[in-house]
Amino acid sequence: MNTILPDTDINGYYEIRLESIGGLGANLAGKLLGELGVFYMGLNASSFSSYGSEKKGSPVRAFVRYREQKGEIRNNAPVLKPHILGIFHEAMAYNYPVFDGIKKNSKIVLNTAFSAGEAAQKYNITTGQLYVMNAGAIARKCGCRLNMVMLGGVIAASGFLSLDGMKSLCRENLGKKYPEAILGNLKGIEQGYEMVRTQEGYVCGKDSTNVENLAQSPAGCGLVSMKEPWSGRFSGYLGGVNPAAGNSMENDLSASREGYVPVFHPEKCIHCGLCDSTCPDMVFRFEKKMVDGKENIVNPGPDYRYCKGCLRCVSVCPVAALTREEEEKALKEGWLKKWENQNKGKGHEKEAG
Ligand code: SF4
Ligand code: SF4
Repeated sequence: MNTILPDTDINGYYEIRLESIGGLGANLAGKLLGELGVFYMGLNASSFSSYGSEKKGSPVRAFVRYREQKGEIRNNAPVLKPHILGIFHEAMAYNYPVFDGIKKNSKIVLNTAFSAGEAAQKYNITTGQLYVMNAGAIARKCGCRLNMVMLGGVIAASGFLSLDGMKSLCRENLGKKYPEAILGNLKGIEQGYEMVRTQEGYVCGKDSTNVENLAQSPAGCGLVSMKEPWSGRFSGYLGGVNPAAGNSMENDLSASREGYVPVFHPEKCIHCGLCDSTCPDMVFRFEKKMVDGKENIVNPGPDYRYCKGCLRCVSVCPVAALTREEEEKALKEGWLKKWENQNKGKGHEKEAG
């Protein structure tokens, strides 16, 4: 019998891990990849997800495992050393231990507006082959959700999964449930596929001896980054503090955003305070400042670490001093950093200490 899988681990598995946040559709993408293997490619497959608190914006991992038809899949453990890693949200690249278990020949598909070289450096990716695409922008152009674009990218990176099979599966599956969205979904898959197919794959850490990424995560709480169990009686953090983003200590909500941020235009602001009373996460911290010789309470701009991108502040601002902008653009232009730096040390972290 001909083999389909280009590479397998010692158990005969080809494995995919999708790292995402709730609401971006990684769970559905994982299920579709599993069904693609079984119904369109003659493989055995299993797919399942692991959720955090089941709320929009919390981390989600979806796992897919393939095996040639002659072998069964009797392993329900998370995928620790993926052949393909799909990262749906860029904020995860610096907030979460998403690169754990990446091997030299693993393929990483990252949703980012940066070039592969820039992203590898920015996120300290020291091994694996990196493919990048601005999945959010493509999804907006095609009128589909981001997971469809990521699906196309993962299929192209695999080099063996069938694009036509995935399109047929989507017509059958999503087309029946959401007929009005199917054209946009198919377009998104195709464009994600093309975007990755036309890249060679940036070799991360060319000069590094790191052939397998087992200890990169700054948070040290990834799937495989710790040699010892990290949350046990003796190794757990005192007081049960979770050092990853979104925890009560740092309260960093940047991974909850879905492509848009409120950009602040200080020259237009009349310091009315409506944004502050509307924002559910206290992103604005008004401060005393001398203006024309008088003491005033002024808006110093949002502290984006705490902004989840709900855009309520944009709706209430009476003078358009806050506008909705694409996050990639805001990041590239340095708009977010400007306010982050200005507000450092003034906000929530002070209270947390
Ligand atoms: S609502 Fe607009 S004008 Fe009022 S303080 Fe906020 S940003 Fe400034
Ligand atoms: S988008 Fe505006 S209202 Fe929503 S969390 Fe961010 S700053 Fe607050």
